[in-house]
Amino acid sequence: MQVVFIGPPGSGKGTQCQLLSKHLDAVHMSMGDLLREEIAAGSDAGVQAERFMSQGKLAPDDLVLSMLREHLEQIGQEKGLLFDGFPRTVAQAEGLEKVLRDHSRPLGVVLQLVVPEQMLVDRLSTRGRADDEKDTVKTRLGVFSNQTFPVLDYYRDRDLLREIDGVGSEQEVFGRVRACVDACQQKAG
Ligand code: ADP
Repeated sequence: MQVVFIGPPGSGKGTQCQLLSKHLDAVHMSMGDLLREEIAAGSDAGVQAERFMSQGKLAPDDLVLSMLREHLEQIGQEKGLLFDGFPRTVAQAEGLEKVLRDHSRPLGVVLQLVVPEQMLVDRLSTRGRADDEKDTVKTRLGVFSNQTFPVLDYYRDRDLLREIDGVGSEQEVFGRVRACVDACQQKAG
């Protein structure tokens, strides 16, 4: 099963995706990690992406979509995929739909981790990653509302979206994630 996991910066999305990829035995594809790997390697894509990421803006859609395509070529069909931090724009969601169709990999469910904004700001200000500076955090939260909110509507319209309450301990939240995904898998047979 293919799962998309959407959550604002600071929502605990990365941690939940790690737990979920183990539970599903799925390949965890974190777009943020892939981009940071490109930056560390000093590739053309990395150089281009860094200009946007360091300001808290999104890397260009064509860049992330071609990274997705390249990456998928290297992954066997036996495992499902868990997309973390992707898609973040409607153009990416449309691109993903096409890529998944080409690979005969239907999307099972889209999980949205819901956390109140003030909690996000508090968590991000204590994390200390390169793009966690105060202004950058503000930009990233703004980007989420402006560019990623429409993605939620996109999946809501297709009846794929499920909201998960992201307030609680890691294990509490994961219990909700697991229950939701297990129910979807049962329904899909
Ligand atoms: P967070 O969810 O805390 O923002 P990520 O590691 O998912 O952390 O993303 C960090 C940064 O990487 C984003 O602010 C953005 O600049 C870039 N990025 C990640 N995913 C995408 C994507 N799908 N499209 C464009 N840029 C992305």
